[in-house]
Formats: sequence, C-alpha cells, structure tokens
Amino acid sequence: MGIWKEIKHEINKLNENKEVDILIIGGGLTGLLTAYNLKNKNICIVEKNQIGLGVTKNTTAKITYLQERIYTKISSLRGYEDAKLYLKSQLESIDNIKNIIEKEKIDCDFTKTPSYIFANTKKEIKNLKKEAEFLIENEIDIKETTLPIETKNYLTYKVENTYTFNPLKFIHGIYKILMKNNIKVYEETPIFDIKKENNHYLITTNNYKIKAKTIILATHYPYFIYPLLIPIKSYLEKSYIIVSKVKEYKNFSCISTGKPIFSCRYYKEGNNIYQISLGSSHNTAFKQNDEKCFNEVQKLFKLNNKDIVMKYSNMDIITPDYIPFIGEIKENMLIGCGYNTWGMTNSVLASSLLRDIINNKPNKYKNLTNPKRFNLSNLIKLPYYITSGIYSYTTSKLIKNKSWYKHVITKRKNGDSIGIYIDDLGTIHEVKNKCPHLGCNLVFNEIEKTWDCPCHSSRFDIDGNCLKGPSNKDIKL
Ligand SMILES: Cc1cc2nc3c(=O)[nH]c(=O)nc-3n(C[C@H](O)[C@H](O)[C@H](O)COP(=O)(O)OP(=O)(O)OC[C@H]3O[C@@H](n4cnc5c(N)ncnc54)[C@H](O)[C@@H]3O)c2cc1C
Repeated sequence: MGIWKEIKHEINKLNENKEVDILIIGGGLTGLLTAYNLKNKNICIVEKNQIGLGVTKNTTAKITYLQERIYTKISSLRGYEDAKLYLKSQLESIDNIKNIIEKEKIDCDFTKTPSYIFANTKKEIKNLKKEAEFLIENEIDIKETTLPIETKNYLTYKVENTYTFNPLKFIHGIYKILMKNNIKVYEETPIFDIKKENNHYLITTNNYKIKAKTIILATHYPYFIYPLLIPIKSYLEKSYIIVSKVKEYKNFSCISTGKPIFSCRYYKEGNNIYQISLGSSHNTAFKQNDEKCFNEVQKLFKLNNKDIVMKYSNMDIITPDYIPFIGEIKENMLIGCGYNTWGMTNSVLASSLLRDIINNKPNKYKNLTNPKRFNLSNLIKLPYYITSGIYSYTTSKLIKNKSWYKHVITKRKNGDSIGIYIDDLGTIHEVKNKCPHLGCNLVFNEIEKTWDCPCHSSRFDIDGNCLKGPSNKDIKL
C-alpha cells in the first residue's frame, strides 16, 4: 500500500560469496545515494526486500528546509551556530538533489512546490514568529501569507524554493545509473550478522558470506544495539497518511507547528489528482489503536469516505537534538539515519558526508551529525526514552488482546505467545507474537493488516514475514 507505485525490475539476489571494499546495507534513499556518490569504488548494496520499499516507500516526499520549528529547537538544544549549519546542510542538499535529477535526467515528477508552515494553535504564534526570525536572519526569503487549504491557522509563512517528487521514480533513476556503472545491487538478500575479523568484516546473508573492509549501514533503524545505543538515544514517531482523490491540483505543501500535526501535499498521476494528508503523529510506544489514529486524520482533514483511496502508516527516527546520526560508529563502520522525518534532504546529506569520510576528505557537517555525540539533549531526554521504552515493553506484555481487535486473538501455545488473525474468508493466519528484535509483543494494525512492534517499529505481515526492521527475522511459527 502507498501512493508511490512499485516499479517492476529484474531482481538479482546474491548467489555467491563476495569480497568488496565497501558494503552498503539497505537499498533505500540513503543506501542508493551513497552508492551513487561512491560509484568509482569497489562496492555493492544488499537489500533485504526490494529497493525503495522501506520507509522511503511511504514518505510524503517533500523536499524542503521548512521543517516545522526545527531551527529554533536545534538552537535551544545545540546552539545558534549548529542551527545555522543544519540550515546550510538542508539548502545544499536541495541543490544536490536538483543537480542530480537534472544531470542524470531522472524522470521523477520533480516539481518546484512552495512550502507553507503555520501555527494551528494560538500558543504556537510566538514560536512560529521566532522560527521565521531565525530564517530571515539567515537570509531566507520567507513571507507571511495565508494558507491555501482550509484548516484552523493563526499565522502562516511561505518559502518558494522547495520541491516535491516521486521518491520511487527517483530511486529507480539512481538504480539505473548504478547498473550502468556495474555496481551490484542484491535484493531479497537480508543481512543477519556482521562480525569483525582481523582487518575486515564478515557479513552473513541467507546462504552466502560477504567480506568487506568497510560497512555502511543504511538500514534505517539498525537491528543491533551496540555501539550506537540507538534505543536510548532516540524514539520512533509513527504517522498516519490518508490519500484521497480531489478535483483540483494545488501546488503547495504545508505543515503545522503545533499539535495535532496537519501536513499535506498533492500528487498528479495521469488524470488523477490526489491529496496526501498526514497527521496523528506520535511516539510508537503510545497510542496503539491505529484505526483511531486514521479516524483522527480523516476528521482533521474533513475527508469523505468515498474520496479515500488508501490509508497507511510510516515511522521515522526522532533524535534528541533533531540532527541526524551520520558518520562513523566504529572502525570502518558508518551509518546514516535519524532524519526526524526529513529524509529526502538528510539522505542526500548522508550520502555526501559518508563519501567524504571514506575518502578522508574534510566535511563541514562531520561534527554536527557525529553519531557518537552525547550532549545535553541526550541527558535531558534520556528519562523520556527509558520511560517510553519500559512503557511500550510492559504494556505489550500485559495487554495482548486489545479492546479494539476485530479479527485477532492472542493466546499461549507450547509456552509461546501466538497471534491469530482470521481473514474475511475464515482462513487462520498464526504467527509468533513476539518481536525478534528485543522481545516486545506485537500489536495488530487492523487497517493495514500488519503486526507492528510498539517498541522499535518492526512490522510483519499476517503470515509472519518481516516487512520492516529493526527485526531482521520473521515471526513465522
Ligand atoms: C510518515 C512519514 C512522512 C515522511 N515525509 C517526508 C517528507 O515529506 N520529506 C522528507 O524529507 N522526509 C520525509 N520522511 C522521512 C523519510 O521518508 C525517511 O527518513 C527516509 O525515507 C529514510 O530513508 P532510508 O534510506 O534511510 O531508509 P529506508 O527507506 O527504510 O531504507 C532502508 C532499507 O534497508 C533495508 N534493510 C533493513 N535491514 C536490513 C538488513 N538486515 N539487510 C538488508 N537490508 C536491510 C530495508 O529493507 C530498507 O529498504 C517521512 C517519514 C515518515 C515516517
């Protein structure tokens, strides 16, 4: 499910042992763009499903630096200079995407689309004014205006030099260039284990081993805990998207600064025009009734049932200081993740920064995004991460049969917790109701028919196939 249609292509699975200088794990925007930037090296990509079908598949794909109130938040947590540097990184990344699309002639519906930001509560007016002041001080041409969609708003600003695109068409454009450069992309090839041996890593896939001097983790949320300790350095935010058919195409994207989050854009495909509405964003640890969250979005955007064509949810990593984790996490192991729901720009930033680190070249963003950083924002937010982790784990264990379940029961069988989904034809689908990542019990998502982990957002289909990490294992019985 998702507005961006999957693009059919020949799938190459790894079918032999391999030795490379650089192995990129993960075929989303981060993985493919990093390979694009390193294309003269001896590299390959492995992807557990198919390229682009991770978090990237369900993004709203706004390419913008107007990111809620991110600059004033970074300013208060990391200082004004770091907020300035982050803004620079976003502007540069937008230019980079534009340059790649133009240079490589990638047909991906890349459209100049003004971005709007608005205060949807009175309390937010003061905060939004501060954000606009920061942007004006940093020579951004931001203007006060009115919002081109009907919803509660008290103050609205707009910038012009931002874009939207179709991320899957973009990814496939990059994929074709990698193919031309003879860079191998192995799909349906999950990585289960990484071991350090002498001066290289030994990586285990389904049937084969890969030997690599350097590893780039582009897996979104890494499946292992050490050395990044990501569960106590971030949380996962889940958002709900409803796509509806509309009559008029409006070329803008918008996001509110206060709760409830109200974010939307439009997309044209043939004669069809779609409004992509996003809302009800929350830490995955809380609010586990997905149907209720979708209903909140429908009500907020005043969407009629007859116009709705699809509903889906998606999750991204929120870091304590709103700056991504990009860089080296241990010797010859690098990562790009933690994009705070702004992954179109930040995956581009990751791809050029990781390239420079590998090539031993200076890069002005290296300290800003250092994934090993531990600063005041980590300390301030640590209790929240620990509490929400404990909350999601214990509630998942204590309340397994949720009051809103319509098609599902859970029970114990031979000492294991089992989840049973009965489909409309009466067929029974049984899975292990335990996430292989850290052992939380799963919550059934009645709308998308998936088993979702409330702790770190792994997802499984009704037959137990792992759709999304950090789990790298299925939950089949
Ligand atoms: C609701 C929502 C809306 C968003 N909207 C926007 C937006 O409008 N603008 C914006 O800039 N950003 C947006 N984002 C953020 C953006 O979509 C993400 O940050 C970005 O897509 C992440 O890309 P990625 O390549 O890092 O991760 P992914 O696309 O998830 O790629 C990671 C890949 O790694 C693979 N993988 C994982 N584990 C393994 C393994 N063990 N072995 C092999 N492969 C593995 C996965 O299958 C996956 O394909 C949004 C995010 C959300 C949640």
